[in-house]
Amino acid sequence: MRDRDRFYIGGDWVRPASPAVIELVNPATEDVLGHVPDGSGADVDRAVAAARAAFDGWAATPVDDRAKLVERMHDTLVGRLSDIGLLVAEEVGCPLSFATLVQVGGPLMVMASYAEVARAFPFEEEVGLSLVIREPVGVVAAITPWNYPLLQAVQKVAAALAAGCTVVLKPSELAPLTAFVLADAAHEVGLPAGVLNVVTGRGLAGEALVGHPGVDLVSFTGSSATGRRVAALAAGGLKRAVLELGGKSANVVLDDADLDEAVRAGVRQCFMNAGQTCVAWSRMIVPRHLHDEAAALAAAQARSYVLGDPLDAATTMGPVISDGQRSRVRSAIDAGVGEGATLVAGGAEAPDGIPRGYFVRPTILAGVDNRQSVAREEVFGPVLAVIPHDGDDDAVAIANDSPYGLAGAVFSADRERALAVGRRLRTGMVGINGGGFDALAPWGGYKSSGMGREQGRFGLEEYLEVKAVQR
Ligand code: NAD
Repeated sequence: MRDRDRFYIGGDWVRPASPAVIELVNPATEDVLGHVPDGSGADVDRAVAAARAAFDGWAATPVDDRAKLVERMHDTLVGRLSDIGLLVAEEVGCPLSFATLVQVGGPLMVMASYAEVARAFPFEEEVGLSLVIREPVGVVAAITPWNYPLLQAVQKVAAALAAGCTVVLKPSELAPLTAFVLADAAHEVGLPAGVLNVVTGRGLAGEALVGHPGVDLVSFTGSSATGRRVAALAAGGLKRAVLELGGKSANVVLDDADLDEAVRAGVRQCFMNAGQTCVAWSRMIVPRHLHDEAAALAAAQARSYVLGDPLDAATTMGPVISDGQRSRVRSAIDAGVGEGATLVAGGAEAPDGIPRGYFVRPTILAGVDNRQSVAREEVFGPVLAVIPHDGDDDAVAIANDSPYGLAGAVFSADRERALAVGRRLRTGMVGINGGGFDALAPWGGYKSSGMGREQGRFGLEEYLEVKAVQR
């Protein structure tokens, strides 16, 4: 059993105020994986008080010393890479190799980069007649989802610590275990007491944290619906809020693209982590005359996935996170078909030969109209909508006709043409001919996908106030 029964508050492992626990379920087996405390307002109060008490000292700690501690946490985690990978594979249900390389390797890159970014950052500069000083905002409430649990925690915690802020981290109740691993690392390297605090709990604990008068900034990653509630609560206290929310990203395939390559890369990216990726290119927008060919290629690829035990090296797709998530994904597939899309692979029924676990068939819906729900709403499962376009302008119009604006992709044989289309997408991130992960690039979205950015210099700046001094 992977049980954790204490919170990390003020540099100590402390007992929760109440005995209530959250039961964790392994999504591949439906067996109980462990338990964590179900935190309450009293626990949040205690954690915020610890973070407040630690703030002045940490803010006054030289940047290089802060960066060194972040690096030492990074080094500690590197030493446990395969253990943490296994933890994530069990908790989230993704294949073990993906868990280790992406779910853990990715955040470690982000963590290391923040030490470098902070060292190089101009915390003071002369502007006009003034000295402009960037100072840490204060106590940060970091609230994270379950799909890339370590990445989302690190994107916030490493940035806030490097900036000189103190943090209360509340991870998702569905995948909270890596937050404890982060606290273990902080404890081991001797991060000063109260600089990082971890409290687990559900939405109520999240609300208590966001609304707490001792919190200066809220950094939230999660659904747009919860993000709206968090933004409203933060506004009530006139707190800054950084919101990393949902997406319905478009993969725009131009008529000169290598269709095989564009579809292969597009399906692979969309189905990563069983489609539970905020930046998933879940709309594939293809030239109308190539639509049927693209749909057939995508369908063949979808059928090639091997569903099963995430710890088996042959598995290429795990389950979705929960029973509730599986129901939502299946309903979205049914709604897509009901609204006129053509099912060319997968479907809402249970996959053959897998009696347990929250598995969903990798599904391709073709001939989708961008007004249909499957093109407008985030599904957060292995479901790709193929949408025909009539030229570059039409493709851009379809891509931008979305409540979301998180990410996007453009494929073309002509890189400049692809970039010209990429410039027209109203999204925070765009990948040209496949793109790639860049830990230094700003991460975040337009429209209902949120506000503010994480990663690199842009991420660090979110945790800083600006002071002008006239001498
Ligand atoms: P969620 O919104 O249900 O929960 C996110 C977190 O918020 C959890 O820790 C939850 O306990 C907490 N929470 C719930 N209600 C709250 C409230 N009223 N006040 C404060 N906190 C509250 O999201 P989820 O299902 O865990 O995650 C999936 C969503 O996250 C998807 O929409 C996905 O696109 C989004 N996401 C976005 C990014 C990004 O960088 N833009 C990255 C990953 C995931």
